[in-house]
Amino acid sequence: MQKNYDVIIIGGGTAGCAAAFTAAKAGLKTLLVEKNIHLGGLITSGLVVPAMNSSQNQINTSFSEALIKELRSMKGQITYLTNPGWFNPELCKVALDRLMQKAKVDILFNTRVVGLNILNKRINGVTLSSNMLSVYICAKCIVDATGDCEIATLANCNFLQNEKRFQPVSLRFMMGGVDLQAFSDWLLDFDKDRNVTTSQVVDGQIHLSTAYTWDKHTNWALKPLFEDAVAKKILKNEDRNYFQIFTIPYMPDSLAFNCPRVYFANEIDPLDNLQVSKALIKGRESIIRLANFCKIYFPGFDNSYISNIADALGVRVSRRIRGKYIYTVDDLKSGKKFDNPVLFSNYPIDVHSNKEGESLLEQTVQEYQLPIESLMSEDYDNLFVAGRCVSADFYAQAALRIQPSCFSMGEGVAKYIAELK
Ligand SMILES: Cc1cc2nc3c(=O)[nH]c(=O)nc-3n(C[C@H](O)[C@H](O)[C@H](O)COP(=O)(O)OP(=O)(O)OC[C@H]3O[C@@H](n4cnc5c(N)ncnc54)[C@H](O)[C@@H]3O)c2cc1C
Repeated sequence: MQKNYDVIIIGGGTAGCAAAFTAAKAGLKTLLVEKNIHLGGLITSGLVVPAMNSSQNQINTSFSEALIKELRSMKGQITYLTNPGWFNPELCKVALDRLMQKAKVDILFNTRVVGLNILNKRINGVTLSSNMLSVYICAKCIVDATGDCEIATLANCNFLQNEKRFQPVSLRFMMGGVDLQAFSDWLLDFDKDRNVTTSQVVDGQIHLSTAYTWDKHTNWALKPLFEDAVAKKILKNEDRNYFQIFTIPYMPDSLAFNCPRVYFANEIDPLDNLQVSKALIKGRESIIRLANFCKIYFPGFDNSYISNIADALGVRVSRRIRGKYIYTVDDLKSGKKFDNPVLFSNYPIDVHSNKEGESLLEQTVQEYQLPIESLMSEDYDNLFVAGRCVSADFYAQAALRIQPSCFSMGEGVAKYIAELK
């Protein structure tokens, strides 16, 4: 393997894949370093599907279009109610391998950065470690797409930790063996006023989504079932704080669950491994109760089983870089315009809370933009970030973190780097 790259991207997740693909397509020698044995980050390890729908006027969408095309060719994607982000998380792993190979990205799985060569305000290279072997690689630019700013931490960067606020974490799972026809028939009748339930046949398969949460005082159809299950000790009260399910493309007997949200007395600090470990154990117990609840209360679940539990805890927000521009919720709410935007979006400010009635889903302006400067470290001239570790305040990040925006950030930062060459 060559030892000099134009750009090294660390973290082969949502934003990192977009950055690597775009950089390589632009002719940059590109290395993608991932600690796991597959790409996709939260989409694959965290089972976070589907991607949210975003604004019609999005920019930097070439990567997501390429991913959709690749997945569709493998029967791993559908467009559901105008949203093309319904992905099969397992096939995503293969689609991303293929895209990176086509773009000629060098990938190192199972590898971490253990050292940095820093001179003045530049990071000139990284020491990588894999299976006890260390290798030093030079690079002109570094992109930290680890979600938690792991490289920026090694580089002793400044962060926006002033607020020390987190959102709840979730441990997602999937169930197989579900009779979706029976479940859908029952659900459409049970949630007659369609507060949250949607259903549509796409490519011959029934697709649906539904939800229940104690957050808002909505007349949730599923509420009496959850309350009954708590009264009978089938569920714990905390299990009913958030429940959401989606079908998965071309998996005609499977459902993906956006739950349980896991918490203790306070929000879990996702950077504290002891708290994360306890959350994983607690989350897996909650999954057992939720799967049992589905079997007891939902038609179509007689032969159902837990088919997959995420191997990554779903972290919504942790460390964020202190960038050359700190994007604020006021910028977002006013739709402030910038000279070099990397994304346009209209996704609302989405703050989960474990306290009943305290979650926030606030639609703001028609469209807002994020400037490239929010992806540049203020401490180094050639260190960039992409993804949920963006330089944005707590409320702005709560709108920016969705997958379409992470894709655009990765693509936008790579295009910027390509122009520096
Ligand atoms: C529970 C939950 C539900 C969500 N629901 C939705 C939804 O329905 N739709 C939507 O669009 N968005 C949703 N989101 C938001 C969205 O999925 C994430 O914000 C987004 O995927 C984050 O992308 P990222 O690239 O920043 O991080 P990730 O996708 O997590 O990528 C980070 C990558 O870096 C790797 N990595 C980390 N450290 C290192 C290291 N030291 N060395 C090498 N590699 C490393 C990781 O293994 C991973 O592959 C949800 C998030 C959560 C937590």
